[in-house]
Amino acid sequence: PSAEPILKVAGLEAGYGDIQILWGVDLDVMAGEIVCLVGSNGAGKTTLLKTISGLVPATAGSVRLDGAELAGAAPDAVLAAGIAHVPEGRRLFRTMSVRDNLLMGAYLRPHDADLDADLDRVMTMFPRLAERARQDAGTLSGGEQQMCAIGRGIMSRPKVLMIDELSLGLAPRAVELLSETLVEVNRAGTTILLIEQDVMTALEISDRGFVLDRGRVVMSGTPDVLAEAPEVREAYIGA
Ligand code: ATP
Repeated sequence: PSAEPILKVAGLEAGYGDIQILWGVDLDVMAGEIVCLVGSNGAGKTTLLKTISGLVPATAGSVRLDGAELAGAAPDAVLAAGIAHVPEGRRLFRTMSVRDNLLMGAYLRPHDADLDADLDRVMTMFPRLAERARQDAGTLSGGEQQMCAIGRGIMSRPKVLMIDELSLGLAPRAVELLSETLVEVNRAGTTILLIEQDVMTALEISDRGFVLDRGRVVMSGTPDVLAEAPEVREAYIGA
């Protein structure tokens, strides 16, 4: 087995205009892993995902997917290379059907038999979406909308699926269901990089985690190690 990470972020710097937010972020994700990114509000988690996606331009550093440099690439090129981004707040097309929202995730691919097979696969993975395929996405519950957003992400057949704020605003039962589904998605072969406000939920489903603070990675490790770390306990678990 190769020890090369599928996603390798090194020395990444980015910001908005004159305001620098990321100060040399180093992070790696191995193929098949679920990795979570935790950190307080404003730590730069969303900015990091947006910079990996090409939505925010990197001012220094590198983002490599399977060894290929993506820093500086446009968002559609990053998606085509194999990184899909489920944004904070889901961002569905509310007046379009669930099915059409899912198809939007595959807009870079030809509509062929493979695409229909993938649509079936997503519908099987998320039976709620199958039941509601013809409904407008705006009529879904929060948890169902998150399923739809994740399903849309999967439709591009990404190597790495990035999810910003999996559980924000959702009921505990919905979070539980989403977590279970995410583990299934991962077992089916998709590597996952996840931002999750609720550190316990994040650590429960992750193989490893990174702690971001003021634009830098200050700690990383297995869920056991992170859950026991005084810095993590004090700041995020409230122990
Ligand atoms: P949260 O959990 O609150 O989303 P986060 O760790 O994801 O926090 P970011 O959203 O990346 O943090 O924000 C990092 C910093 O960048 C914050 O200080 C924020 O105010 C700032 N920021 C975010 N978006 C912009 C923008 N478009 N223009 C200027 N500053 C921004």
